[in-house]
Amino acid sequence: MSNKTIVLGSGISGLSAAYHLGLKNIDATVYEKDAEWGGLCGNFTIDGFRFDKAVHLSFASDEYVQELMYGETPFYRHKPEASNYYEGCWVKHPAQNNLFPLPAKTKVSIISDFIKNEGKEHSISNYEDWLRAQYGNYFAENFPMKYTRKYWTIDAKDLSTTWAGGRMSQPDMEQVLLGSYTDDIPNAYYAKEMRYPKVGGYKSFLTTMKKACTIKLNKEATAIDPSKKSITFSDGSEESYENLVSSLPIPHMITLLPNVPQDVIDASENLFASSVAIVSLGFNKPDLAKHLWYYIYDEDILPARCYSPSIKSPENAPKGCSSVQFEIYFSKEKDLALQGDDLVEHIITKGLEMEIFKKEDIIVKDARVLPYGNVVFYDGMEDDRQIVLDYLSSLNIHGVGRFGQWAYLWTDQCVLTGKNVVNENF
Ligand SMILES: Cc1cc2nc3c(=O)[nH]c(=O)nc-3n(C[C@H](O)[C@H](O)[C@H](O)COP(=O)(O)OP(=O)(O)OC[C@H]3O[C@@H](n4cnc5c(N)ncnc54)[C@H](O)[C@@H]3O)c2cc1C
Repeated sequence: MSNKTIVLGSGISGLSAAYHLGLKNIDATVYEKDAEWGGLCGNFTIDGFRFDKAVHLSFASDEYVQELMYGETPFYRHKPEASNYYEGCWVKHPAQNNLFPLPAKTKVSIISDFIKNEGKEHSISNYEDWLRAQYGNYFAENFPMKYTRKYWTIDAKDLSTTWAGGRMSQPDMEQVLLGSYTDDIPNAYYAKEMRYPKVGGYKSFLTTMKKACTIKLNKEATAIDPSKKSITFSDGSEESYENLVSSLPIPHMITLLPNVPQDVIDASENLFASSVAIVSLGFNKPDLAKHLWYYIYDEDILPARCYSPSIKSPENAPKGCSSVQFEIYFSKEKDLALQGDDLVEHIITKGLEMEIFKKEDIIVKDARVLPYGNVVFYDGMEDDRQIVLDYLSSLNIHGVGRFGQWAYLWTDQCVLTGKNVVNENF
């Protein structure tokens, strides 16, 4: 029998687990299916433009995580000044407190529904109920309910509220009124500061953990036999383990195991995550990107969100250039309407309409898909998740991270899952 611990996946969670095992002098090896480490925190470079895999900014509040992520990585501190695009208007974030640029009729509809809502009793059984209770019907229907379909890929009525926590800011009538008369309102976001490495993309924040890890790349686990404690990889090789930590998506993990009980298979087949198509554009001019990131509510514009790698760090683009990346979410509940070059063309057409850039500014364009984006919190997801997690735990498979624990975790929280799982089990 082997003494070693295997960690599956070299994203931030897998690296955190391996790093914390190392602190306990436990020999661990990370096996990663891709040719590069980093998972969702990784990046790619085209003609000198570096693009992270979707928007990544750090707002870690835990001091231990801050030290681990920022300790040896110089970084920029950005104000979280997001924007919103709605029917031709740019609205500061959060939209409900910054109605100033909207047409008078829209403002009246939003505010009168806010007023009608005040003091009303609401029974809340799903996210749509919650949105209507918070914002009134008009704003709920035209802003967050549209955004929910684009980001979560399902209707708000089919989404639970458990993921929301402090992520959505609640309207205050004085703020709403003030923001409808003037645009001189500071931006507000649930994090006070967004941090990003000066060089090397977001994954530079993983440097300390990565340096302490042994990582084997191009090693895709294709079968796991918990009774023999062995893993088979796509290259035909086999490794035995004493302990197994996994950051793999739990529904994927179930497909690798033999003799899984039917109720576990059923529960795992219910679980689903959104995928993200990312369309990246590089421009031959500086400053074309006006916002660190923004949300797009119009449903005829496919992306839900856009951010700028070159604002995150100028080192992400060649001198005198700038860049943006759009995110389009899809899942088994919502098809990706356009793909590849067609998707890029759609983004360019819409970007021209939104007056973000001109066609001749574009010198790099790329479309690719991230298979796992957000865990979707459909009604009943937590029950299905529990069945799967209990089963994996009965096999001594320790799950870490967003997909190994199947939760809406940010990178800093993923670091903590790696640390906590090691401290609780090893
Ligand atoms: C669009 C988007 C934007 C985000 N923005 C932010 C942000 O601004 N700030 C923030 O803090 N967080 C952000 N997050 C969240 C953050 O990306 C995740 O919480 C975190 O990166 C998840 O890391 P992980 O290690 O758990 O998973 P992953 O990074 O997915 O790592 C899992 C690894 O397992 C590997 N793997 C899969 N199958 C196998 C197999 N069979 N064998 C071997 N290896 C395998 C994968 O290739 C991958 O490398 C964002 C997420 C998304 C989707």
